Amino acid sequence: MIDNASLLIGIAFSSASLMVALLIGWLNARGESYLGHGAIGIGLVVVALGAMGLRNGAYELQHQLVPFAVLIAGFSFIHSGSRLFRNPHARLFPSLLLGLACILFTAAPLIAGYAGTGTLMLNLSGALFMFLCGLEFWRGRHEAPAAMAVNATLYALTALSFVGCAVMLAVQRQWVLDGPPQNWAEDVNSIMALVGLTGIGAITLTLHHARAARRHRTEANTDALTGVLNRRALFERFGEDDIVPDLGVLMFDLDNFKQINDRHGHAHGDLVLQQFAGVMREQLRGKDVVARLGGEEFCVILPGLDREAAQRVAEGIREGFAGLRIPIGSSDGIATVSAGLATAGAGETFSSVLSRADAALYKAKSAGRNQVHLAALRLVA
Ligand code: GH3
Ligand code: MG
Ligand code: MG
Repeated sequence: MIDNASLLIGIAFSSASLMVALLIGWLNARGESYLGHGAIGIGLVVVALGAMGLRNGAYELQHQLVPFAVLIAGFSFIHSGSRLFRNPHARLFPSLLLGLACILFTAAPLIAGYAGTGTLMLNLSGALFMFLCGLEFWRGRHEAPAAMAVNATLYALTALSFVGCAVMLAVQRQWVLDGPPQNWAEDVNSIMALVGLTGIGAITLTLHHARAARRHRTEANTDALTGVLNRRALFERFGEDDIVPDLGVLMFDLDNFKQINDRHGHAHGDLVLQQFAGVMREQLRGKDVVARLGGEEFCVILPGLDREAAQRVAEGIREGFAGLRIPIGSSDGIATVSAGLATAGAGETFSSVLSRADAALYKAKSAGRNQVHLAALRLVA
């Protein structure tokens, strides 16, 4: 059987390596402040556990007061870290305030000579913080249900092990102590802290990497200027040779856009592109797909819409854009767009519908712009 002091040192070492891992994660992604808070929190826990493990039988007031306060400060950073994990804009004062209150309620009995009551308060503080951390992960579990639920469970079990220590002190009426409490609950708590911290740390880092991968994937598929999909993402969703039944395809090209750029500058042209993307977003359903094919050309895919319905959508976008007042210096200007529409015929490939929509767009341009042209229905051979 390992004695409790050795266990504390063991936890301190395993926590220290976790702290380094979180710190490296934070240095690589400074925006992820939860990693920084986690690293500081665990760092404080390491210091406190190290001090408790190395006190070597000494049990003066300062041997309790200092490590307990540092430990609670560590818990409160771990708590702010889990709040920031769920919401990057979470406010920090709830964790700070709770930490200060816990330190006060723990320090008061210690100073009054009731080391047992102080230790009981420390355990209740640990339980409270661990439950609250678990709650954050539980409430955010839609992001990665299995990993977040395991994290929440590990926090809850660690919290329960703190409750166990507090209950043992209360049941045995150990309000005054002349050495650290030694009972099975303390051992369970140490082991649970070791397992919990390591597991939570590993899972949190995995979640962090999964988030980064998701963000990179989104960035690689998104047009930076307008926020719609880019050309590559569109052709990833719809292969050129895919047979696409029940699909309306719209091709848009802004009218006389070169003139807009030449007259009012490229930055103004960019603004017009963003406004056009905004009009499309307003008019489309969640399952419609919008992509910028390049320059001022956009493609909209309307699943399950027939010619008439797709035409109404196209007209809605055209009219919405033409009705927009676009600020130019001190006055307003207008811009227009032309569109070609084709709906997929039986057995038709995506690239075939796309080129028919493109040909229809060309006709809308030559017929005078600011209009929607419908491609003829495809004749089945
Ligand atoms: P049309 O009515 O026949 O379509 O005339 P147009 O002037 O719109 O046609 P054209 O294709 O010749 O012009 C497209 C212009 O779009 C040329 C290019 O400078 C501009 N352009 C392409 N990408 C961007 C961009 O990201 N931002 C801005 N501001 N302009 C862009
Ligand atoms: Mg154009
Ligand atoms: Mg063009």
